Amino acid sequence: MRLATALTGTVLASALLFSTVPAAFGAPTKDLPEVSSTQLTEASSMLALINPTTKLSPENYTPSKLVDVAGTGLQLRSEAAQAVEDLLADARAAGHSIKILSAYRSYDRQAALFNQYQGKYGTAYAERISARPGTSEHQLGLAADLGYTNSLSELKASFGQTPAGIWIAEHAVDYGLIVRYPDGQEEITGYKYEPWHVRYIGKEHAKALAESGADTYEEYVKMLAESLKEKKTEATPAAKEQAKVDAVEEKSTKDGTEISSQKTGHGVLKEEDLLVLRFLPPYRDWSFGFTE
Ligand SMILES: [Zn+2]
Repeated sequence: MRLATALTGTVLASALLFSTVPAAFGAPTKDLPEVSSTQLTEASSMLALINPTTKLSPENYTPSKLVDVAGTGLQLRSEAAQAVEDLLADARAAGHSIKILSAYRSYDRQAALFNQYQGKYGTAYAERISARPGTSEHQLGLAADLGYTNSLSELKASFGQTPAGIWIAEHAVDYGLIVRYPDGQEEITGYKYEPWHVRYIGKEHAKALAESGADTYEEYVKMLAESLKEKKTEATPAAKEQAKVDAVEEKSTKDGTEISSQKTGHGVLKEEDLLVLRFLPPYRDWSFGFTE
């Protein structure tokens, strides 16, 4: 129960510890931005990693605040909205008339969309082109689909070879955005190439990812998690003692049924979290909400 409560309300990165992501990428992890375990696990974190094997918890998570992307009826979290607005303005100034075609999608909207694809193409293909509800970055309010027209049928791989697609791939990083599903990385990301789908992770991390040698966001998050583990290993005996004291204090303040989402980490993954992550099988569609 204690293990389960420690994970409740989090998006835990299954890819961190046992996915098909290669173990080493060459880049020294100490050059990566510092992160806390909370940043890697909370659904509300700008860095939240979700993919077909790492569901949101709770599945029907809704961002606490969404804002309209200027000039559209579409919504994103404010940082992401600003980034997309800036990117679109600069793209237009550079001669590319790109529009935002899709942004935040609720759990229910995603469910309807997936069911529609499933009915049309069957389950296997639907899973390659659409997220099951609870596994879509659009539900985070941090992802947007960009394109030339307002028609979603225009979302094709060939967009990556258009002047606008090339411009997005080259400049997204300047706005804290990444092309989340790169060409040839389906084994790791779970999705076919989507040159139109950008995900906000913030300028610092977008730049660090570009410089890290990671080909995918899954790889980058794994690198961040590894650097967090290294820091824990390097911690001085005094720091380790303090961490133990913190952990005891934290437990004693819990009411036994609920853990505050703000109190799940002190900058390091807890030993028990790592144990759970290490031994859980990498099922598709598994969820961390075992307490529900
Ligand atoms: Zn998308």
